Amino acid sequence: MKEKQDDVLQEFCDLCHRVGLKLTTPRLAVYRYLRGNTEHPGVDRAWEEVRKELPTISRESVYRVLNDLASHGIVALLERPDVVARYDANPNRHDHFYCEKCGRFFDFEIEELPALVDAAVGSLGKIERAEIRVRGICNECLAKEVRLANKE
Ligand SMILES: [Zn+2]
Ligand SMILES: [Zn+2]
Repeated sequence: MKEKQDDVLQEFCDLCHRVGLKLTTPRLAVYRYLRGNTEHPGVDRAWEEVRKELPTISRESVYRVLNDLASHGIVALLERPDVVARYDANPNRHDHFYCEKCGRFFDFEIEELPALVDAAVGSLGKIERAEIRVRGICNECLAKEVRLANKE
């Protein structure tokens, strides 16, 4: 689903306003790149792409922007089994499948999850976020393994 750039600008403007974050060109560029991106990129990948729009932006700036957006709840920070932080601007509640071979995150959604979690955890406190994280090996990596095995 591709949105028009102006819609993204408007959306980002609203988000910044809501959380009290100043709208800057680097922040908008990073958000524009992340929004609608299903890759769940890390800082290096984000820098590589954002630089195409803002050639002078440093890796450090992209990193700072990502952390600003994450600390204001505009993007989600996905903790990985390793130390590399990854970012997700998909605003809808969704779950993640993590491939241990290639390190990619894939989105999926268990629609019943919020109700299930609420039933099980609701009496303990207020739920801010519920997400299932599944670890495994993605189809692409599985296919690669099969191809390698067949070569032997
Ligand atoms: Zn994989
Ligand atoms: Zn996601």
